[in-house]
Amino acid sequence: MRIARTIAELSEMRREAILELLMDRPGRPIIGLVPTMGALHAGHASLMQRMNDECQVRIASIFVNPLQFGTGEDLDTYPRPIEADLDLCRSFDLDVVFVPGAAEIYPPAFATSVSVPTLAGMLEGAVRPGHFDGVATVVTKLLALAAPERAYFGEKDYQQLCIVRRLTADLGLHTSIVACPTVREADGLALSSRNAYLTPHQRGVAVRLHACLSAMAEEFARGQHDTQLLISHGASLLRGWEEDDFELDYLVVADPHTLAVRDTARRGDRVLIGAKLGTTRLIDNVELTS
Ligand code: AMP
Repeated sequence: MRIARTIAELSEMRREAILELLMDRPGRPIIGLVPTMGALHAGHASLMQRMNDECQVRIASIFVNPLQFGTGEDLDTYPRPIEADLDLCRSFDLDVVFVPGAAEIYPPAFATSVSVPTLAGMLEGAVRPGHFDGVATVVTKLLALAAPERAYFGEKDYQQLCIVRRLTADLGLHTSIVACPTVREADGLALSSRNAYLTPHQRGVAVRLHACLSAMAEEFARGQHDTQLLISHGASLLRGWEEDDFELDYLVVADPHTLAVRDTARRGDRVLIGAKLGTTRLIDNVELTS
């Protein structure tokens, strides 16, 4: 496994990995990319596993993207256990791990922003203005640099997934976006690098996010399609949390592509929740199936 710290190194290592493969086995290899911000856990590992199953040239990136953090957010404190992260990448025998510094991605003259305004201003974007423009910009650049046939994203960040799918289609990028299911702790809490911020007490509270979503999905499966009733059922499980410094930002049933909120829920719709527990942001979502 080789580590690229500059764009030039990434290009060179990507080219060499392709050439090495071609010597062994003629035929154009499939190139995969897993973009991450590091502090890797089993959720990231599931993306790498899927990439390994499907691609011959495997690239991951580890980059804490300053553009997607607002003022007062956790850019400075975001966990950066780089050695452990590289060990995890080595365990998947990746070809290249791209670990650029911020100046490599955003040199002083950098002036471009990618935006998907229809999807970026709602839900998580309403709470974190500018966040998804930062995400869209860095994902576009990473897709341009690694030029993968397939890029792997988690359903855990569902709004991000919708935005990445939209920009890839709109800009005609030659990358298929592969959505991977959310990996959870045994009690249902979605794995997240930010879970490390939670105190033991908050960890106990955080699991109720998933309990709320599961209860709504169960009600839907029992035949309740009125979203207001579904939402009040889910929200009733969150009541009384204010004393735990819990703040619900949104709980919606939405179209799985446009994220437009529904009056009447349909099979395949998505329930999305965003909340703050102390200073930690928590998000989760589930699909409504029957
Ligand atoms: P991040 O490092 O948080 O930017 O995440 C990098 C990628 O891993 C994104 O596509 C996330 O959606 C995905 N990811 C994060 N947590 C999980 C999880 N619990 N299950 C599946 N994918 C995840």
